[in-house]
Amino acid sequence: MTVTDAAIDSVATAVYTVPTDAPEADGTFTWDATTLVMVTLRAAGVVGTGWTYGAPACAAVVRDHLAPIVQGRSALDVAEAWEQMVRALRNVGRPGMGGMALSAVDIAMWDLKARLLDLPLHRLLGAVHDGVPLYGSGGFTTYDDARLDEQLTGWVRRDGIPRVKIKIGESWGTQVDRDLDRVRKARAAIGDETQLYVDANGGYSVGQALRVARQLRDSDVRWFEEPITSDDLDGLRHLRRLTSMDITAGEYGYDLTYFRRMCAAGAVDCLQIDVTRCGGITELPRVSAVAAPHGLDVSGHCAPHLHVAALAAIPNLRHLEWFHDHVRIEAMLFDGTLDPSGGDLRPAEDRLGHGLALRPDRAEPFRIA
Ligand SMILES: [Mg+2]
Repeated sequence: MTVTDAAIDSVATAVYTVPTDAPEADGTFTWDATTLVMVTLRAAGVVGTGWTYGAPACAAVVRDHLAPIVQGRSALDVAEAWEQMVRALRNVGRPGMGGMALSAVDIAMWDLKARLLDLPLHRLLGAVHDGVPLYGSGGFTTYDDARLDEQLTGWVRRDGIPRVKIKIGESWGTQVDRDLDRVRKARAAIGDETQLYVDANGGYSVGQALRVARQLRDSDVRWFEEPITSDDLDGLRHLRRLTSMDITAGEYGYDLTYFRRMCAAGAVDCLQIDVTRCGGITELPRVSAVAAPHGLDVSGHCAPHLHVAALAAIPNLRHLEWFHDHVRIEAMLFDGTLDPSGGDLRPAEDRLGHGLALRPDRAEPFRIA
C-alpha cells in the first residue's frame, strides 16, 4: 500500500483528568484539576494524536458525530474531513464543546498526515519562523508571595523567558488592592528588563478596568488581557483608546466569524487564538489571515506543544503562552516535549508530526474514560 491509500481504520478517544500541583484560580474561575480529551487515529499502522483541554463530554461529540466522518477516509484529505465535520456539527453546536472536539480530531489528522509523509508537522505546514517566542503564564490568584516569586523567577532566571503573565481581577474584581500589590511584587521579582503582562479573565467592569490600567502603568505592564468580558467589544475598544498597553482577547473564539467581529470592532491590539478550540490546525492560519489586514499579530493560547508547529507557519505571529498547567501535564504524560530555554520554542526537526507521543504507563493512572 502506498501512503496515498492510507485510510483511517480506527478512531479512539480517551479522557485524562490530572490534579493541579496546588489550588488555582484566576479572576473568574477556580479549579483543582485539568482534563485532557485525547483523540487517536490510525492509518497504515501509523498513529496520529490530537487533544483539547475541555470537558469529558467532548469525547462523546467525537464518538457520536465526528468519528463516523473520519473513519475510512484517506488520512491525507484533512480539508475534506474538516468541512464534513463542520457540517455535521450544525445542530450539535460548533462553539464550545463542538469546536473543541473538531479541533482535537483535526490536530490528530494533521499529526497522522505528517507522520505518514515522514515529516515533522512544521515542515509539512511550511515554517516561516525557526522558533516561536514564549511568555511564561501562571501567577494564579491563589498563590502566596513565595510561590509567585518562585514561579516567575524560574521562567526568567532558569529558562531565560523574557515575558511573564500573572492573573488579576481576583474574585470578580473585588480584590483590586491585592491585585495591584501582586503586580508590584511580580515586577520586583522579575526586574526591569522582563516584560510583565496581566490577565483579568473578564473580572472587571469597564470603568474599574480603566482605573486599574492607570495604576498598572507604574509597574510598566505592557499587556492587559480580557480586562472585561471578551464579549463586550465596545467596552474593549473604549479601553483600547484610553490606555497605552495592549488590550487582548480571543481565547474563546470558535469560528472565523467570531474573530472577524473582534478584529473589525477594533477591540484588540493582539488577537489570541487557541488551536484546541478554534477548529484546529486547519483553521488557525485562516484566523491569522483575518487578523493580518487589521494590522494585528496573533498569540497562541495555552496547549503549547499543539501550537508550536502551526504558529511557526504564521507570518503575523507575536508569541505563545507557556501556561503552567498545560506545560506540566504535557511533560507528565508525553515524550518529546520541548525545552523553553532562551524564550523560544523550536519545533523538533528529528521527530515526526507534532513530535509528542503519549506515554500510556504515565497517562493510565489519570484516565477517567
Ligand atoms: Mg487568558
